[in-house]
Amino acid sequence: MKSILENRPLLAKQVTDVAEVAGYLWQKGWAERNGGNITVNVTDVVDAEIRKLPAISDRVAIGRPLPNLKGTYFFCKGTNKRMRDLARQPMENGSVIRILDDGSHYEIIADNPVKPTSELVSHLSMHNYLIGKGSNYKAALHTHPIDLVAMTHHAPFLKKDVLTNILWSMIPETRAFCPRGLGIIPYKMPSSTELADATIKELDEYDVVMWEKHGVCSVAENIMEAFDMVDTLSKSAQIYLTAKSMGFAPDGMSQEQMKEMQIAFNLPG
Ligand SMILES: [Zn+2]
Repeated sequence: MKSILENRPLLAKQVTDVAEVAGYLWQKGWAERNGGNITVNVTDVVDAEIRKLPAISDRVAIGRPLPNLKGTYFFCKGTNKRMRDLARQPMENGSVIRILDDGSHYEIIADNPVKPTSELVSHLSMHNYLIGKGSNYKAALHTHPIDLVAMTHHAPFLKKDVLTNILWSMIPETRAFCPRGLGIIPYKMPSSTELADATIKELDEYDVVMWEKHGVCSVAENIMEAFDMVDTLSKSAQIYLTAKSMGFAPDGMSQEQMKEMQIAFNLPG
């Protein structure tokens, strides 16, 4: 069977980028077994021919109406699929789905009938929210960075913006490249609509949010940017942990030094 990616370099690039990031997640030890999910809104690179493609699956209920997603298309990692496999064979471990006109169901259109991620309701709720507020963000990433998840096992770090300030202060890049900081969501059942709703609420203020004792979720214009923000935050977490393992608490950059960064790079406050 012909792949949907054939002669479609723009769509192929989206899928190749997802595969590249999936490989990084595995290499970093953030993607045990089938851990983590990726969805990318690929509607912009879908042509008229794709719009006419018949479904290769039944219609599946998303679990809630998402009106802004009518007629949109996503590349999704498959449920129970491994990131390390997605890296090598993206179209066998992920699929392209179409959201139907009722905004409540999807169908798989290519290449294989791989059922999308178990966190589909959170991911699609985030995309629905982003479209609704006119955002140009297209990618959502969920992964399990060891250092960042470990930091959520300490109650004082769960207070608003405590982790943001610690991580920003470890290295100037984090202040610059993760300028909206890190939101915190108290523990909720994975795959639940409660987790989806709490995540959307935090996206008003943050591009990256921690799910307590579980993982991180980030949204960005593309999957590389979504990965880069988590990678940068993880770097800061590692600097913090390395200092602690040498027997001292790191001083961190001062509030003045971070303010100086904010002004120099015109970052949000
Ligand atoms: Zn997870």
